[in-house]
Amino acid sequence: RLKVHFPLYKGVIFKRRVGAAQAVDGVSFTLRAGETLGLVGESGCGKSTTGLAVLRMTEVNDGRVVFEGRDITRLDRAGMQPIRRRMQMVYQDPYGSLNPRMPVADIIGEPLAVHGLAPGKAERRERARELLQMVGLRADMIDRYPHEFSGGQRQRIGIARAIAVHPGLLICDEPVSALDVSIQAQVVNLFEDLQERFGMAYIFIAHDLAVVRHVSDRIAVMYLGRIVEVAASADLYRQPLHPYTQALLAAIPIPDPAAEAARPRQIVAGEVPSVLRPPSGCRFHTRCPKAMPVCARIEPVLAGEGGTHAVACHLHNAVEGEAA
Ligand code: SF4
Ligand code: MG
Repeated sequence: RLKVHFPLYKGVIFKRRVGAAQAVDGVSFTLRAGETLGLVGESGCGKSTTGLAVLRMTEVNDGRVVFEGRDITRLDRAGMQPIRRRMQMVYQDPYGSLNPRMPVADIIGEPLAVHGLAPGKAERRERARELLQMVGLRADMIDRYPHEFSGGQRQRIGIARAIAVHPGLLICDEPVSALDVSIQAQVVNLFEDLQERFGMAYIFIAHDLAVVRHVSDRIAVMYLGRIVEVAASADLYRQPLHPYTQALLAAIPIPDPAAEAARPRQIVAGEVPSVLRPPSGCRFHTRCPKAMPVCARIEPVLAGEGGTHAVACHLHNAVEGEAA
């Protein structure tokens, strides 16, 4: 069960099946208006699938997606149309996500036309010029094509396209991981400025904790399709409870180019099990340095949900009738 609650942007309960198994299974989080939830984990943990499921861009087999007070889980295409305007996506790849044959005016103007926000072409051009300036580009760049921009500039165009239709929620799927480290902070700052200005909520997906640290109000750490820990950002850094979160934090590179290059790509030792055949009990037990006998047998539940700091680990949550 993937269950996401948005008290203002309301929640989701859903499940996605891939073949006979579940790629995302047992995820629960809440997101308020204007808030940023960081969604962190290694590739394949289900964080992108979670984002797509919120957007109803992947099949939701079971459960509920509630957004801005409406259950949108079973809405058809036409029913989703007005919702689509309120939920926008910023993609990881600033090269692949912009149509190379379209000038920027059309790239940004397209969602305006689709959602009937600026019916006239001149109106759309004017709006595109404003949006370019909002994301830190020059208004006179609107007749240029994507190949004329750098990666960071393209990601700014992607952001302009996403905010053009006044979304309440932006799902940002690793929006800076394809960019040079020197550009990443600038783009993260842009996200923060725009949030302050327009009050959008963000689901900010990343594969490491360094990127989401400053942008997130709360962070959910995912492992093999489940959330294993969720806490206010400051609490998660100050006192990470789950051994996997602790490993992710220990893997944050030292801001020294030489040290960064020397650091192995893999975040946590041990082979990542298949999400299609996850380990028994705690899914992390095959890689956990603190694993106990109970861990292979009994799955820990995410305890403390609804509180400020929830964790799914037997070290922190007593198993009923079991001595760990
Ligand atoms: Fe490690 Fe056991 Fe906690 Fe899982 S439940 S994270 S295996 S200590
Ligand atoms: Mg991904």
